[in-house]
Amino acid sequence: MKLLISKCLAIVSGVFLLSSTLHAAQPLAAAEVKAALNSAYAKYKDLQEGANADYIPALAKVDSNLFGIVLVTVDGKVYSAGDVSSEVSIQSISKVFTMAKVIEEKGEDAIFGNMGVDATGQVFNSIVAVEQYQGAEMNAMVNAGAITATSMISGKSRDEIWGKILSYYGDFAGRKLSVNQEVFESEAATNQRNQAIAKLMYAYGRIKDNPDRATDIYTEQCSVNVNTRDLATMAATLANGGKNPVTRKQVLGNEHVPRVLAVMATAGLYDDTGKWLYRTGLPGKSGVGGGIIAVSPGRFGIAVISPPLDAAGNSIRAQRAITDISNALGGNPYAVAPAQ
Ligand code: GLN
Repeated sequence: MKLLISKCLAIVSGVFLLSSTLHAAQPLAAAEVKAALNSAYAKYKDLQEGANADYIPALAKVDSNLFGIVLVTVDGKVYSAGDVSSEVSIQSISKVFTMAKVIEEKGEDAIFGNMGVDATGQVFNSIVAVEQYQGAEMNAMVNAGAITATSMISGKSRDEIWGKILSYYGDFAGRKLSVNQEVFESEAATNQRNQAIAKLMYAYGRIKDNPDRATDIYTEQCSVNVNTRDLATMAATLANGGKNPVTRKQVLGNEHVPRVLAVMATAGLYDDTGKWLYRTGLPGKSGVGGGIIAVSPGRFGIAVISPPLDAAGNSIRAQRAITDISNALGGNPYAVAPAQ
């Protein structure tokens, strides 16, 4: 059953047109998905707004015209539009999967009781946010909480910890991933602010030891190369209760998925997460490389890569394309028909 509940509900910030189609949760029709992807691609392909991140010098050099959209359903169907094979660095989208690994290894309270699961209302690399509650009452989607999460992955050596992180990301993507060395070196040479944040988290006892190593591993995790299909498969694995719908591997315990999605819904697009959730209802995560992933639980994962960002550090084309596509396909989990 498909109910058209509303059209042109509102214009928010004068930018996004919110129109929602409400669907019962049923497999998506291929023609409908293809039409939604193609129409968003055509609509935003020539949009020239925002700019590549340049505080990490290597990111400024990435082609700003790169634009790819992929949607992967929970039954493993892959739909795409535009450039789906060019790779960018995963950047902050990595935070989701490192946090998931910590939850898997140490349990849900480890995150809740350390950096916390609340929004900061500040930019992603805010020091004020750390100071406010001594490194607590924040979350693993902003740098302080994310570097702390990286420091919580167990292992006897840097190599062992790094190997676990990289192969875990690969399990979500469904293929072996590798590091963009140029981006890693570029960020490692310019990440003094993150080093300071990690030291503060150490001073407050959130990071237990070796804050410099945690920052270094975190910087490497942000430099992992992904294409749009990788990101969409990672999102679809979360949409499918932690089981990769393409490889059929259970990557994250089914019971942990709601916690991961909750933190994404709270802080995945930093201090603009409320705006994003208002428009889409979807747990999402952005990265300054230009990627955004979003999860429609039980239905699909979607990803867009497009490097130009807005002031909050979120890809402009990605936000718009995902919003349009998800709303056209009834992806918003809060949009339900009343019981008859
Ligand atoms: N590696 C980047 C940083 O730590 C990630 C930030 C982001 O994607 N928002 O600054």
